[in-house]
Amino acid sequence: MQVIRSNRKTASLQVNRNAELIVRVPLLASDAEVQRILRLKHDWITQKIELMQARQAERAPNGKLEQLLYLGKSYRVDYIQDTRPYVSLQDHFIVSNLGTEQLRQFMPQWYQMYGIRYMQARIVELSKLHGFPTPRVKITKAVSKWGSCSTAGRVCFSWRLLMAAPEIIDYVIIHELSHLIHQDHSPAFWAHVQSIVPDYKKHYKWLKEHGHLLNL
Ligand SMILES: [Zn+2]
Repeated sequence: MQVIRSNRKTASLQVNRNAELIVRVPLLASDAEVQRILRLKHDWITQKIELMQARQAERAPNGKLEQLLYLGKSYRVDYIQDTRPYVSLQDHFIVSNLGTEQLRQFMPQWYQMYGIRYMQARIVELSKLHGFPTPRVKITKAVSKWGSCSTAGRVCFSWRLLMAAPEIIDYVIIHELSHLIHQDHSPAFWAHVQSIVPDYKKHYKWLKEHGHLLNL
């Protein structure tokens, strides 16, 4: 457990993706006060830690990256020694001169570089098909959001989305394209999404429940 005292007015609890509890409290909060919060939130903390531990176990059974996802398919990773470091996707991933940790560091960039063409093509296709203006596209290093849309008409997607199945990616694309018309999550926005992706709720739910698996 980590207790962080800072210039804030209220306490907050967080269990991070490594299943560690982080307690943020005001500067002058006493240890007794921290203990009181822990007792009060005991059930929530226990549940959250169990959930994050389960996710952690699903995510990395032994810490080594032996499989990588791309467009919803799981590919085996072969580690080889060659003249220079690289990552190449054939019918499986070939990883040259990189260990698991280096690969973990490098892969977001790989998804950005390799995935941009897929995303661009799909966005051109979907925006033509459904009458959206074709926006500029960027794949970002964002980890906590699947996509975003700027008022300047640019849509951004997290590199992690490239791990998802094509129909999930399509839903997120339509979601962001619909924000070019509705800048909020109003009923009108969702009605627009639904008119194009009738079963969008299924994809939305999948991302909520399984999105954590789209990670390294
Ligand atoms: Zn949205």
